[in-house]
Amino acid sequence: MSDPDRLRSLPSVSFLLEAPGIRQVLLLTPRPVVVDAIRRIVSASRVEAAAGAPPRTREEWAAHVLSRLPAEIAAAEEPSLRRVINATGIVIHTNLGRAPLPEEAVHAVSSAARGYSNLEFDLASGNRSTRLVHVEELVLSLTGAEAAHVVNNNAAAVLLCLAGLARGREVLVSRGELVEIGGSFRIPDIMAESGATLVEVGTTNRTRLQDYERAVTSKTALLLKVHRSNFSVSGFTEEVSAAMLGSLGDRLGIPVMEDLGSGAFFDFSSAGIPGTPTVRQALANGPGLVTVSGDKLLGGPQAGIIAGRKALVDPLKKHPLSRALRVDKLCLAALAATLALYADERRAASRVPVLAMMFEEEKAVRARARKLIRRVRAAGGAGLLMYVEKADSSPGGGSMPDVLIPTACVAVTCREGRVEDLEERLRRGAPPVVARIGKGKLLLDMRTVRDGELADLAAALVSAAAVPG
Ligand SMILES: *Cc1c(COP(=O)(O)O)cnc(C)c1O
Repeated sequence: MSDPDRLRSLPSVSFLLEAPGIRQVLLLTPRPVVVDAIRRIVSASRVEAAAGAPPRTREEWAAHVLSRLPAEIAAAEEPSLRRVINATGIVIHTNLGRAPLPEEAVHAVSSAARGYSNLEFDLASGNRSTRLVHVEELVLSLTGAEAAHVVNNNAAAVLLCLAGLARGREVLVSRGELVEIGGSFRIPDIMAESGATLVEVGTTNRTRLQDYERAVTSKTALLLKVHRSNFSVSGFTEEVSAAMLGSLGDRLGIPVMEDLGSGAFFDFSSAGIPGTPTVRQALANGPGLVTVSGDKLLGGPQAGIIAGRKALVDPLKKHPLSRALRVDKLCLAALAATLALYADERRAASRVPVLAMMFEEEKAVRARARKLIRRVRAAGGAGLLMYVEKADSSPGGGSMPDVLIPTACVAVTCREGRVEDLEERLRRGAPPVVARIGKGKLLLDMRTVRDGELADLAAALVSAAAVPG
């Protein structure tokens, strides 16, 4: 359908910049921004023209460009990284930024960001100090560890521990724990980068204490246990508990480390979710050292926490990698504020969003689902069929692979058009809404949608429904 005359009739940017309405826009917006926006609008029209749209006169072109200019400029000013509404029901969603921070942490971040701080400065003595002081005591009091260190994320924590404790020597790991997490964190790869040599023991489904004992040599520097995170092994299985590994390590004088992954600072078993020991319980069990993510079950910023025996942890603080993996002041501010909430578990359960979302009663989630439906109907979402449907949310983040949390979704179908198109319009809207399609319906899991997001979500649904599918 390409017609060279039509393409040739596209107006020049300099002509459009002279059009009266567009000159108005130029009074308020920098010229390069306007020029770029005009180019994008014209080139989008080139596609329309190629698809057979009728040619426009110069005046029609000016009116067309002017009508699209504000939205085009606004879209260009929209940051790439923006807030989205998580309607997936996956509480710790790595692609959606994992843990939303507690309000207390948000305030701490903004005050640390806005001005100077005593990041590495001891106000009492006027001397230089270390940035770790702002979180170490908190970690010690919550976990019972003798020493703690914080780095960029848990992958960095594992890398640092391996490099610091086992470079040039051997690390024993069960074959059942050679995991890949989140697509890029693989124990064998991190091991290789650390300069330590991986020695696999046991089999995928069964590893016994003798497997470790037999593999120990004079080159063994560390016994490593890794939380399996995103999968579970069932059937004919056997694994060596951290406690057994701990006593083996003590007997042989070899340090034992456990990568807890999510690791909890909250006693989930008291909340009816067994199977995830707290960091305190994990340490009491025997390993000399554990590593934990900051933005999984803890519900704080991206960080990796190393906690354990002083003799093992303190040298890591001076390791050259520590400087490369160090956390910034914003992370420390958020982490300290989040950890402080755990001094009182009840407060943590209500103030830390990850915990609050996981613990919210199903009937409260259901009430939010009904509220959304009422709002959408009141705002005229006539093209949508909606009802509340039972489903399961998951903690996510590879934290508790076997745990499902009963939830309520708003199930949406369109009177006309495809549900896939509705999903796409919601995802590409402002704010974007991320949901899933199941059995031909769009499912909005209301467990991960906050009350404060209901108005935006309802508006997004109404506008997504208004566009013909
Ligand atoms: C998530 C996870 C990691 C990686 O943690 P990040 O904080 O994402 O770097 C490492 N080990 C285990 C067992 C995990 O679950």
